[in-house]
Amino acid sequence: MINWLDFKSIKRAVKLESVLRHYHVELRRSGKDQYRGCCPIHRGEGREAFHVNLARNVFHCFACEAGGTVLDFVAAMEGCSLVEAARRLQAMTCSSDPWKSTSNGEELVTKRRRVSLPLNFTLTGIDCAHPYLAGRGITEKTAVEFGVGFYAGPGLMHGRLVIPIHNADGELIAYCGRSVDQTQPRYRLPSAFAKSEILFNMNRAAAGVENTVVVVEGFFDCMKVHQAGIRSVVGLMGSVLYEPQRHALLERFRHITLLLDGDPAGRNASTIIAKKLRPHCGVRVVLLPDGVQPDQLWAEDIGKLLQRSANDD
Ligand SMILES: [Zn+2]
Repeated sequence: MINWLDFKSIKRAVKLESVLRHYHVELRRSGKDQYRGCCPIHRGEGREAFHVNLARNVFHCFACEAGGTVLDFVAAMEGCSLVEAARRLQAMTCSSDPWKSTSNGEELVTKRRRVSLPLNFTLTGIDCAHPYLAGRGITEKTAVEFGVGFYAGPGLMHGRLVIPIHNADGELIAYCGRSVDQTQPRYRLPSAFAKSEILFNMNRAAAGVENTVVVVEGFFDCMKVHQAGIRSVVGLMGSVLYEPQRHALLERFRHITLLLDGDPAGRNASTIIAKKLRPHCGVRVVLLPDGVQPDQLWAEDIGKLLQRSANDD
């Protein structure tokens, strides 16, 4: 498959303009073929940081330094490799006008080959009683249930808190390694991990009887909400809802409650995500006070917040 991927012809065939439209990126014209706006990749504040040249089919962000061709753009947005980005773009250019409508895009998404294959190993000797977990308000019972704990063994995840990630069928597909000190990166994921296709905890949430799900940003938010007794909860592993994730949510749930972080990025993401979901299901947005994330809340506060928003409806 890889050897017939032709990067050059994909870059020529796919217009950055259509790709930007696909991701709902809004830009302002700043010159002939030139556009500027907020960067959809780092989603920072700078309203002029992200520059696009449609004639040259390239982009550059002066804040996060992301830049390049359509391939680089898709790789950055989807959190995937260039090869995977090429595969996706190539699959799309095979249909007549792939970027024309969302429904067409969704179809391509569901037909696409699944890239997150189950792991053929599991890490052993994980310490679910590590003090870092208690420090973040995660009980040992929750840690054991999620299989989260400190890993002292060899390899990529050495010396990190490991968080097993499963696909919707409950197959283990990756570990995320959270540093327990100041070590960067804070979260380490295997480079082949296709974040856009997976919702953390979807296997448990989907297995329940509820037709409502709470959507949070992070692993710890998710575990905290679960610990508060709300078992139907999934984590975006960021603040973007990608098409495959959206598709998976809509396929399984009829009501979605957004409980994202109480910061500008979280609120902005809530607005964008609610807009994407509203035509297709019931959506509630729970806004948290400034600087508050769900994982910092007490169980009873989480319960109350979600209860209150249910009554508001
Ligand atoms: Zn940027």
